[in-house]
Amino acid sequence: MIVVFLSPPGSGKGTQCRRLVDFLGVPHLSTGAMLRESVRAGSALGELAAQYIEHGKLVPDAVMVTLVKDRLEAADCESGCLLDGFPRTVNQAIALDEQLHTLRRRVDVVLEMRVSLEELIRRLVERARQEGRQDDSADTVVRRMEVYDSETKPVLEYYRKLNKLVSIDGMGDSDVVFDRIKEQVKQYAGSTVRD
Ligand code: AMP
Repeated sequence: MIVVFLSPPGSGKGTQCRRLVDFLGVPHLSTGAMLRESVRAGSALGELAAQYIEHGKLVPDAVMVTLVKDRLEAADCESGCLLDGFPRTVNQAIALDEQLHTLRRRVDVVLEMRVSLEELIRRLVERARQEGRQDDSADTVVRRMEVYDSETKPVLEYYRKLNKLVSIDGMGDSDVVFDRIKEQVKQYAGSTVRD
């Protein structure tokens, strides 16, 4: 099954996605992690991506679509995957649909985790303290939130119209939030998941 996971910066997306891939037994395709890895490796992609990540901007669609396309065609994604942080623009969503169509596959469900603005800020400040992610500085966080509103919220609308969007309350204890996610995903995953 193919699951898309979208939620604002600081919502706890990374943590919940790591738990969800264990639960589903599918590869974790985090575009943010893939880009950060390219930056660490100093590749041409990394050099390009760093300029966008540092400023809280989105890496151009064409770059992202190619990156995900290559990964989706790898053998380990045959039984599905969790797309974490992709698609983030409507153009990426359309390109993903087109690509999956040629592979005779489709996105099964899109999970959106909702967290209040106060809680997002609290979690981001905590992450900046613990992980020291460069794009967790105050200016960049504000920019990433604006980008989420202007570019990614329309993606949620895109999937809502296709009846694929499931909103999850992301407030509260991480285990409780994960239980909510599991409840929703089980309805789409049938008997393939472990409990
Ligand atoms: P994330 O770890 O998902 O919060 O992503 C960190 C950063 O990587 C984002 O702020 C963007 O600069 C970049 N990025 C990740 N995924 C995408 C995407 N699908 N499209 C464009 N840029 C992305």
